[in-house]
Amino acid sequence: MVVITLQRNKCIGCNYCVELAPNQFRMSKKDGKSVLLHSKDKKGFFTLKSNDHVIYSDCKKAAKACPVNIINVKNI
Ligand code: SF4
Repeated sequence: MVVITLQRNKCIGCNYCVELAPNQFRMSKKDGKSVLLHSKDKKGFFTLKSNDHVIYSDCKKAAKACPVNIINVKNI
């Protein structure tokens, strides 16, 4: 299972994650921060659990590119 976490309140809106993993991230027009699609919010940590391993590599690239290091990707 792939587990992706986004600590959304620290997002600076650079758009890298959207460019690298467009199926998983979108920029919010409301506050200019990234949205992890289909995720659940738990105290500001947005988590997506998926059995689709195809998303792993894209999200891993996004996690590496994120300048504030708030995207976490685990393959468990
Ligand atoms: S790469 Fe990081 S800082 Fe940039 S938009 Fe995505 S989550 Fe926000």
